[in-house]
Amino acid sequence: MSCVFDRDKISGLADSELSAADALEVWQHLRSCDECDAYFQDILKLRETASRLPKYSAPAPVRQPNRPNLWVYGISTAACLAALTLWVTRPIPVAEAVQDHILALTSNHLVDVASSNHHTVKPWFAGKVHLAPKVLDLDADGFTLLGGRIDQISGESVPVLEFRRGAHLVSLFVTAKEPRNGPTRGFSVVTWRDQDLYYTAVSDSSVAELERFATLYQAK
Ligand SMILES: [Zn+2]
Repeated sequence: MSCVFDRDKISGLADSELSAADALEVWQHLRSCDECDAYFQDILKLRETASRLPKYSAPAPVRQPNRPNLWVYGISTAACLAALTLWVTRPIPVAEAVQDHILALTSNHLVDVASSNHHTVKPWFAGKVHLAPKVLDLDADGFTLLGGRIDQISGESVPVLEFRRGAHLVSLFVTAKEPRNGPTRGFSVVTWRDQDLYYTAVSDSSVAELERFATLYQAK
């Protein structure tokens, strides 16, 4: 062990316990230090093993999106239907996904369920969001699953999968609505449709690399 970087901070990142500033500092260090990066990967593997042990604690509370209950405001049925139609068909802005990706990088909220095992991550979403995302681990192809979280985009709960490719992170947003193009603030964004769901991948890696990720994801 030659690097003197604070290992407690690296553990803190794995446990999502750091402040935004500290999380960013650790991410930046992991990009340039193989030793600490290997340490971080070991922690994730340990967490993964631990997560497979039987648990007896109460399930985490289900977070509900903040949606106004139109009925309590006495709006007419026709107005409600019109609003509902608009709400259902309104596309998901890609800019919001990019913003969420940046927030995840700079805050202590990278994943709600930390696991590289899709058998752990996929069932975690059940009951928390109304759609079932395809969860893959593309570790053999260089994209390691870190886990999943639920973000709020346009007032909706959206499942997000987090992957790691070397020094880069890929956030994969899964929505029932079509993504709408917008400013990407220099990040690479690739979208595709698989059956009834839309997938939006956001990363600071190159577009070519993200397209490779998308191709792999659709092929499995
Ligand atoms: Zn280091």
